[in-house]
Amino acid sequence: MIANERLVNYIRSLEPDRSALLDKVRKEALAAEVPIIRDETAALLKCFVTMLRPKRILEIGTAVGYSALTMASVMDEDSEIITIENYEPRVTEATKNISGSIYRDRIHLINDDAGKVIKSFAESGRQFDFIFMDAAKGQYINWLPDILSMMPRGAVLFSDNILQEGSIINSRYQVERRDRTIHTRMREYLFELKHNECLETAILTDGDGISVSVKR
Ligand code: SAH
Ligand code: MG
Repeated sequence: MIANERLVNYIRSLEPDRSALLDKVRKEALAAEVPIIRDETAALLKCFVTMLRPKRILEIGTAVGYSALTMASVMDEDSEIITIENYEPRVTEATKNISGSIYRDRIHLINDDAGKVIKSFAESGRQFDFIFMDAAKGQYINWLPDILSMMPRGAVLFSDNILQEGSIINSRYQVERRDRTIHTRMREYLFELKHNECLETAILTDGDGISVSVKR
């Protein structure tokens, strides 16, 4: 993570060229300060999708579609991604980016509040074999019960931004009230991921902090 910037830059310099589309979406997102996954997170995400070959992927937090397109670039042709975003300008941008790609039939964007969608999915018994959690950081803990109910044995929950630039371990007096709430909830989330008997979890400091949990 933040530990050694030179090392991170070196690793990034090894990254092969992206496809023209991914390159364009990434550059536009960075220019507009859209918080897309970091390069090392993208690399790990692609390894997981390649390794697990999930048929049904759920992404919570589409932004402009960069991570969905990244996963789609390595997934099987008969796999699909359902991705959720509720911020109108980003939905518009994501729709444009996805429909302009060769993966348009395999990525389904839902324009709604993720909490609501997850609840209705859980109630109707939907199952996903890979879930990428990357939306409102303070909500992860609240969404977890529904998320777990959608994961069969062996399913993987991959969560981004769990260390909040490292600030998650700062004293509460060093952080603003809003962030304090997010930090408290994120710590509860990480504790739950580590102590829930249904899960095996690894916490990584790469990117902005990543957790990988497998359902027993
Ligand atoms: N996964 C994307 C980045 C997502 S950024 C990528 O790496 O390319 C997080 C996104 O989650 C933001 O666009 C934000 O609008 C969205 N979000 C936050 N809370 C949400 C909610 N309750 N429902 C749906 N989307 C939400
Ligand atoms: Mg993220």
